[in-house]
Amino acid sequence: MDHQFQKVWSDCLAVIKDNISPHAFKTWFAPIRPIRLQNCILTLQVPSQFFYEWLEEHYIDLLKKTIKKELGPEGRLEYSIIMDNTRHANQQPYAIHAPTLNKKALKNPPINMPVNLQSETAGGTIPNPFVIPGLKKLNIHPQLIDSYNFDNFIQGDCNRLARSAGIAVGRNPGKTSFNPLLVYSGNGLGKTHLVHAIGIEVKNHFPEKTVLYVTAEQFTNQFIDSIRNGNQNDFVHFYQMMDVLIVDDIHGLAGKPKTQDVFFHLFNHLHQNGKQIIITSDTAPAEMSGIEPRLMSRFKWGLSADLQVPDFETRIAILQKKIHNDGVEMPQDVIELISAKIDTNIREMEGALISILAQSSMNKKDITLSLAASVIDRFVKQTPREITIENIQKTVCHYFDLPLEKLKSKSRKRETVQARQLAMYFSKMYTKSSLAIIGNKCGNKDHATVLHACKTVKNLQDTDKQFKKYVDEIDKMINI
Ligand code: ADP
Ligand code: MG
Repeated sequence: MDHQFQKVWSDCLAVIKDNISPHAFKTWFAPIRPIRLQNCILTLQVPSQFFYEWLEEHYIDLLKKTIKKELGPEGRLEYSIIMDNTRHANQQPYAIHAPTLNKKALKNPPINMPVNLQSETAGGTIPNPFVIPGLKKLNIHPQLIDSYNFDNFIQGDCNRLARSAGIAVGRNPGKTSFNPLLVYSGNGLGKTHLVHAIGIEVKNHFPEKTVLYVTAEQFTNQFIDSIRNGNQNDFVHFYQMMDVLIVDDIHGLAGKPKTQDVFFHLFNHLHQNGKQIIITSDTAPAEMSGIEPRLMSRFKWGLSADLQVPDFETRIAILQKKIHNDGVEMPQDVIELISAKIDTNIREMEGALISILAQSSMNKKDITLSLAASVIDRFVKQTPREITIENIQKTVCHYFDLPLEKLKSKSRKRETVQARQLAMYFSKMYTKSSLAIIGNKCGNKDHATVLHACKTVKNLQDTDKQFKKYVDEIDKMINI
């Protein structure tokens, strides 16, 4: 009887083997270990969170059918994920009951996100923790992602300062001169990962400290909700309880003066009380737009450290770590190819890695250099570098040799108006921002002005050859 679970699983495997390619079988099913069978629930151990998500996404029907076939209609499946053994040596693996899984929530979260967080954060909203009655300080969930720790954050020239400042802050929150610590970089270069790592470091050294990670967007939404519900004081008190407050993507506060005001006062309160503030941003403080000067000056009080694009060796090391953590395998020459071809965004590198795994698995092909090359080729073409309103503004200003402040000013000078209209036109075309946001960032105009600008640029292109040349050239510059 003891080994009944092994027999059940090997029977399942026999069915599964008949239904999928040998390659997929080897990749996704051979590494699975059955652990137990209790009350018709078969528990399987998988090497990583990534593995589990992959199985759920691609093989759930087959798994369900097979389990029901072997165990009858009551049969259920439970997964146990081997966590990173360096940090979790003493912890029980997560157990997940298949029927209670929120499958939708699994679509978007980053790989390796701990399962117990998913339903709370995947939709982008943390339930307002301060409305929980009888809230005690220790009950606050820090909203940190376990795998975003320092062990998994590869060191390189690109991140030396930010990483060591982060470690210093993590071991001595509120007590270093890095307060606030501001981390800035382009998209996909590790800001979110690094600030989570700092939060985890604090928790490891000072479990009693209250740490909270929020995005500026979540902060804003909670603030708006608190006004709506008439519990603004609770909101403020909740945030004043923090020992370490991490606010990700602070540029999300741009153009929101009320939220900035409340954050300004919170910042002062925490700072005066020796609490640690950590923020991230997509630009250096001096280049932030839409943030009030008094808040911007606070951001410059501590240390601003940027994350740069990692060099080739560091990119390889990052991919190797990822592959190791995910429990999958990939030839070294393929890893090198990804690192060589995708050189500006780590998230895109990881995306390519997953696409290659997917291609190989779906098309039943081994992972070879030529398969990888074709995937990367398509991948790079399909995901052009992210274009932001700020980049567009810079490009347009560079083109016309116009200072950026002019474009953002209210100036009605002809050249300035034209440049501003072009910036609006391209922002509408290439970003997902609303007309209101675009207007806000381009001289504090309203959405109607942006709409008018877009029409004007379209019309002028048809009638004015010189103008069309401007548009074409700027377009090329934006898309380099
Ligand atoms: P950002 O917040 O700057 O857009 P993220 O922190 O989301 O970027 O990082 C994107 C992905 O790259 C994440 O999966 C993260 O784990 C990974 N990553 C970034 N920097 C590193 C690093 N130095 N070592 C390992 N992984 C990294
Ligand atoms: Mg981020």
